[in-house]
Amino acid sequence: MALTVGVIGGGQLARMMVPPAIHLGFEIRVLAETEGSSARLAATEVGDYHDAQTVLAFARDVDVVTFDHEHVPQSVLRALVEAGIAVHPTPEALFVAQDKLVMRERLTDLGLPVPDWARLTTPADLDAFLADHGGRCVVKTARGGYDGKGVRVVSSSDEVAHWFDGLGDPSTGGALLAEELVSFRRELAQSVARRPSGDIVAWPVVESIQRDGVCAEVIAPAPGSAGRVADMAESIARTVAERLGVTGVLAVELFETTDDRILINELAMRPHNTGHWTIDGSTTSQFEQHLRAVLDLPLGDTGTASPWSVMVNILGGPLDGTLADRLPHALGDQPDAKVHDYGKSPRPGRKVGHVTVSGDDLDEVVFRARAAAEFFAG
Ligand code: ADP
Repeated sequence: MALTVGVIGGGQLARMMVPPAIHLGFEIRVLAETEGSSARLAATEVGDYHDAQTVLAFARDVDVVTFDHEHVPQSVLRALVEAGIAVHPTPEALFVAQDKLVMRERLTDLGLPVPDWARLTTPADLDAFLADHGGRCVVKTARGGYDGKGVRVVSSSDEVAHWFDGLGDPSTGGALLAEELVSFRRELAQSVARRPSGDIVAWPVVESIQRDGVCAEVIAPAPGSAGRVADMAESIARTVAERLGVTGVLAVELFETTDDRILINELAMRPHNTGHWTIDGSTTSQFEQHLRAVLDLPLGDTGTASPWSVMVNILGGPLDGTLADRLPHALGDQPDAKVHDYGKSPRPGRKVGHVTVSGDDLDEVVFRARAAAEFFAG
């Protein structure tokens, strides 16, 4: 019998798990939010992941349940575990990734480097934090944010008055997170994968270039990171994976500060945008590794074939058609570009695909990856 993986969520991360599942002979089933999801190439059911009965029925015959996103409620996750279904990452680990305040508390308890932070339940809490931090700081909603939605730089509590007003809704977690405005040189990301039996492997630390709070480009490895930066990033991610018992892929978003510290921004317990380059640039992609890890199979080599890989996101996409319309031009112009189309309708700002180019010369690789991605611009 083929091993069967059930993935909750039908986005591009689930979609990109499909090719390695095919190669390794796994069955992959997806519980998608809507018909025609990005992951529709897999055996797909449509259902509400908030509903325990729906998720239990979906998970009945799978060997493991894993995720395309972190939003499945704890009550549903616990119902799966109580029914004897293997869930990776586990509900306990996911709990930390589901709420930015819980994340900050746990990372602080573990003695890991994080920005100064505070829990806010009233505008007065924010005023006090602002007074201690030079009059400017970052405020984040604890739950449900992504791609910079739910993150604001503020200099007055009035600017997030509506977030305080909304805290009565239990889905918010009842509090906001304030953080020092970190003065960073660049953003990095470190991905690792951990099996339930404990083995951990790491990919090289990468640089992630954000525009408007959204990842735009990734350079692997992060230029100039060999040595101290790479060692610190890997050691932080290994500690997080071990101490939180993360299973599957863990991506740790980091700040490299202007005074040479490495601070943790965020954790994602699933394949992550900053690891898409591994599909074409690493011996084992993050998607294959995630499947191997959650099935507790031996992990793959994380070596790279080329010194550099650059991934450029296709954000929005052509507004007068589809990526497929532009594909012949991009492939013709940049024959070594690896184009990934997520099968989503173009919409301003939406992540609809990415391009990866690998090679020996970083400037050349950046140029080619951008040139290929440009064919898909709006
Ligand atoms: P999301 O969960 O929406 O991805 P993040 O918490 O990762 O939100 O923040 C999005 C972006 O906002 C980060 O990539 C970074 O560029 C900026 N940012 C977040 N926190 C801080 C901070 N404390 N100081 C400075 N910039 C920050």
